[in-house]
Amino acid sequence: MNHSDSERIASILEAVKYEKVLFEDKADLIVINMCSVRKSAVDRVAGNFKRYKKYKKKNPNLKIVLTGCVVESDRERFEKLFDLVIDIKEIEQLSDRLFNGQADLPDKQAQSDYNNYFNIKPNYQNNFSAYVPIMTGCNNFCSYCVVPYTRGREYSRPVKEVLNEVTELVENGYKEIILLGQNVNSYESQTTNKFKISSQRLVFSQGGQQRLGRKNPKHIPCFVSRIPNSKTINFPILLNLINDIPGNFWIRFLTSHPKDITEDLIRSVAECEKVTPYIHLALQSGDDEILKKMNRKYTSEHFLNLVKIIRKYIPNVAITTDVIIGFPAETEKQFQKTAEVMKKAKFDMVYINKYSPRVGTVSAKLEDSVNWKEKKRRENILTEILKETALENNQKYIGKTVNILIDKLGENLICGKTESFKNVRVKLKVTNYRSKIKKGEFTEVKIVEADAWGLKGKIDK
Ligand code: SAM
Ligand code: SF4
Repeated sequence: MNHSDSERIASILEAVKYEKVLFEDKADLIVINMCSVRKSAVDRVAGNFKRYKKYKKKNPNLKIVLTGCVVESDRERFEKLFDLVIDIKEIEQLSDRLFNGQADLPDKQAQSDYNNYFNIKPNYQNNFSAYVPIMTGCNNFCSYCVVPYTRGREYSRPVKEVLNEVTELVENGYKEIILLGQNVNSYESQTTNKFKISSQRLVFSQGGQQRLGRKNPKHIPCFVSRIPNSKTINFPILLNLINDIPGNFWIRFLTSHPKDITEDLIRSVAECEKVTPYIHLALQSGDDEILKKMNRKYTSEHFLNLVKIIRKYIPNVAITTDVIIGFPAETEKQFQKTAEVMKKAKFDMVYINKYSPRVGTVSAKLEDSVNWKEKKRRENILTEILKETALENNQKYIGKTVNILIDKLGENLICGKTESFKNVRVKLKVTNYRSKIKKGEFTEVKIVEADAWGLKGKIDK
C-alpha cells in the first residue's frame, strides 16, 4: 500500500514540475511515506530525518515532508521536526500546503475522504506490473494494530474507477495487476450501472441470487448471494468483472481476513482463469485464546478448515500468511499451537513479525512480557518449520513446465515469478536466446530444482 501511495505522491510532484534526483543530498524536497505498523519503522523515520536535516545546511530551501500512516501521538512529535506532516488522504494539496501559505487548512479539509486521493493518477514505477488499490482503511480493530487509527475506516473505490484503471493498464501492456486492500473481502461498491458479466458466464438469475458459471471444462458453478440486483458489487463479483477485461494478464490480490473469506471468493479464484492461484491469509496465532485477545474473531480450527477448502477448489494454490510472535503473555504452549497450525497448513511463505506494542492500540496496555531474545528463539523455530513446508511444496514443481512472468534479466540469467508467486531463476545456455526475451513477458520454463525459497528452471531453446 505504501508503494502504491508513493506512486501517487510522485505523480503529484511531477505535475508541479519536480524531477527525481539520483542523490538525496541534491534534493529540494524529500517526502517520507511512513508505515507505523511496527515501532522499528517509526524509529527509522526519526533516524532518516536526522540525516536529511544535515542537507539543510547546504540547501536552506530543502523541505522535508512526512506522510503515510502516522499515529496521532507520533504526529505531534514529528510536527515539531518536519516542515509539513500531511495526511495521505490530502496529499493532492502537498504543493499548496508547502508553498502557498495554506499550511493550516480548515478542519473540513482534514476530514475529506479518500475520493480525491484515489483520483490521483499514479506514476507507476514499473511498466508491466501495477498495484491497484481497491479499498483502504479497516474496521476490524485487531488489538495490536494501528491501521484503523492511521488509515481510518474502510473505504471502497467505486467499481467503475477500478475497472477503468485496470482496463487502461491492460491496454498499455501490463501483465500483472495486484489489487490492494487491508481487507479485500470487505470490498463493496454500489453502482447504478448494469454490468454485463460476460454472457457465457451469467447463467441464470434466481430468487435474488445470481449464478456465475463458465463454459470451460473446469467450470465450477458459483453462487454469488450478495447481489440482490447487481447494484452491490462485492469482491468475488469484482474479480469476475476484472477477469472479463480482454487481455493476457494475471490478477493478484492482497489481503484476505480469515473471518470473512467466503466460499464465493474461493470459487471465484478457482474459476477466473486470470486470477492467480495465490492466497495470502493472515493467521497471526494458532492459539484460540491469543486469537481472542487479538480480536481476530476466528479460531485455529476455522482457519485450518479454510485452508482445506482453498486446497480443494484450487489444488495448485500457494498459501502465505502473517504470524505475530510474542504477543503479551504468550506462553510456550500457546506458541507451540502456532507451530502446530503452521505444520498442518503447510504454508509457502510466512511473514513472521515480532510483537511490537503500538501506542493507542488495546494491546499496548498489556505488558510486552516476551523479551526480544525469546521472540527471536520463537522466530527461529517457525522459520525452520516454514523451510520444511515451503521445500515440500516447491519440490512438487520439479519436472513441471510453468509459465513465468519475467521480472529481471541478467547476462545469462532470467528471473521471474510463477502464477503462484514462486521465484524462478533460469540460467541460459544459449546466449542468443537472451536477446529474444524481454522483461514483463511470459515465458514457459521447465522446473529442474527447488529449495525452500524458490525454483530453478531451464528453457530448452
Ligand atoms: N489486514 C491484514 C490482516 O489482518 O489479515 C494484515 C495487514 S497488517 C498492516 C500487516 C501485518 O503486520 C499483520 O498481519 C501483522 O502480522 C503485522 N502487525 C500488525 N501490527 C503489528 C504489531 N503491533 N506488532 C507486530 N506485527 C504487527
Ligand atoms: Fe490491522 Fe487487523 Fe485491520 Fe489487518 S484486519 S489491518 S491486522 S486491524
